[in-house]
Amino acid sequence: MFQCAVTCAEVCCTGATMLTLDEVGTLYRHFPITVGFRQYSPVDSSHRDFLDTVAERAGDVYIMGDFIAGNWRRKRCAMLSSARLCSLHDTGLKPIQCRIVPFCAVYPENRQHAVLAEQQMGAFRKCRGFQQGTRENREVWSNGIITDTETRQAFYGYRENLGRQRRFMQAILDECKALPAFQRFLAGKGILEAPIPASMLSELLSEAGVPEDDHQHYLRFQAELCLRELGSRTPSLVFQDALQQLKQLMNTGEPLLGKENIITKQ
Ligand code: SF4
Ligand code: SF4
Repeated sequence: MFQCAVTCAEVCCTGATMLTLDEVGTLYRHFPITVGFRQYSPVDSSHRDFLDTVAERAGDVYIMGDFIAGNWRRKRCAMLSSARLCSLHDTGLKPIQCRIVPFCAVYPENRQHAVLAEQQMGAFRKCRGFQQGTRENREVWSNGIITDTETRQAFYGYRENLGRQRRFMQAILDECKALPAFQRFLAGKGILEAPIPASMLSELLSEAGVPEDDHQHYLRFQAELCLRELGSRTPSLVFQDALQQLKQLMNTGEPLLGKENIITKQ
């Protein structure tokens, strides 16, 4: 049994979350957005069939990409308020991934017990949702099934989106293969991070539901958010690369948005 206690959000609301393609269109004012690839090993034949539809096979493993929102080097998500509540929770914009954790939609529902066991040993060892029997908290997982309707919908919604965004991820991955970092990534188990390439940004934004008139708006918000990360205590070259891609597409001479326009934690 797993019940999300919601009073320990600082455990799961660390510096970054993951977004689906549609959420790129709705959340670009809140997070700097990059792409991250990870390696997954199939746990059975149906998992392999699923990975075949969302990821690239590389020997025994699959490489799958997600949109990363935020900076995972930070300890807290920029949307986590001082009251330890998500600023997006009541806006209807809370990312699907944040409604799923500590489950992982890349694995089948009937394998989530293994995911939970691993989470409990690692990043979620302080998660109170593994305690049983608190009446006021809703049950999320029981006897191998995600019992909470909202979590279940989010879980399957995320899986569906992985298929939809695959062609963009494949194109970005193909560009990354020429980088020395790609070989290091293949040899290890970390994350390969990359900016969204300028060459595909317009098409990607249109697919994410951002009207063409708002594309410049996206560029300016994202450039400002990347600058914010570069000026933080946990900068990363990926934001510098992302800024470079954004600048290629921005109208020269137009000022970036002022900091007061950037939506951060409240
Ligand atoms: S968006 Fe909200 S729920 Fe998701 S990590 Fe940030 S604070 Fe937590
Ligand atoms: S119970 Fe676990 S998943 Fe829920 S808020 Fe706490 S750490 Fe996050």
